[in-house]
Amino acid sequence: MTFRATILTLYPEMFPGFLGQSLSGKALERGAWAIEPVQIRDFATDKHRSVDDTPSGGGAGMVLRADILAKAIDSVSVSGGDDERPRLLMSPRGRPLTQSRVRELAEGPGAVIVCGRFEGVDQRVIDARNLEEVSIGDYILSGGEPAAMILLDAIIRVLPGVMGNEQSGVHESFESGLLEHPHYTRPPVFEGREIPDVLTSGNHAKIEKWRHEQALKLTAERRPDLLQALKK
Ligand code: SAH
Repeated sequence: MTFRATILTLYPEMFPGFLGQSLSGKALERGAWAIEPVQIRDFATDKHRSVDDTPSGGGAGMVLRADILAKAIDSVSVSGGDDERPRLLMSPRGRPLTQSRVRELAEGPGAVIVCGRFEGVDQRVIDARNLEEVSIGDYILSGGEPAAMILLDAIIRVLPGVMGNEQSGVHESFESGLLEHPHYTRPPVFEGREIPDVLTSGNHAKIEKWRHEQALKLTAERRPDLLQALKK
């Protein structure tokens, strides 16, 4: 099955961008996922092809118009039609993205992803087209495109067959609710720093135990909120 991503954007030429490289690039070539960038401006109605206007009530910046964005969305996915892909809006006001939401999305047929620009988009199109707002963190980007690429990168790497070593997903940070243990490789001594003995002991049970302890310790230090969530 191909995961189909349709991206509504004022900058379609930004895609696939870095997603065309490495793991995701190979998966794209193989057809594990497909990307269809759509230019929102193509749905403008005036001769200047404008897509934004000043905010009602005043204030700084410009707002993406509801009517034009709705037409762009309807051109790729009709509400109540047979396209079952979720419609997402990249937005700092959205629910912060988590690995479990990434996994859910990856199990589905794809996503329609709206990239905001300027001050954001008219609230009425969010409501009328039932857009799920997704945030990639508590900071403000200049546009939704890099956020959409980050979301896609996270989804693509968990698509079946994309990651070479399927095991490498299992211990990953957040997958178990913990941050991952530290990693080491050659050389055995780096600037006087040695690899912890247990890792070269060959005792796999001991190694597993050590890694779990390290993961717990790191999570307690850096992300006590994750440990709290595990206890619930
Ligand atoms: N005025 C808005 C920010 C607009 S930033 C506010 O204060 O909430 C312009 C666009 O960039 C947004 O519409 C959104 O699509 C994207 N964007 C910015 N920060 C983001 C974030 N943390 N996560 C996801 N998308 C973001």
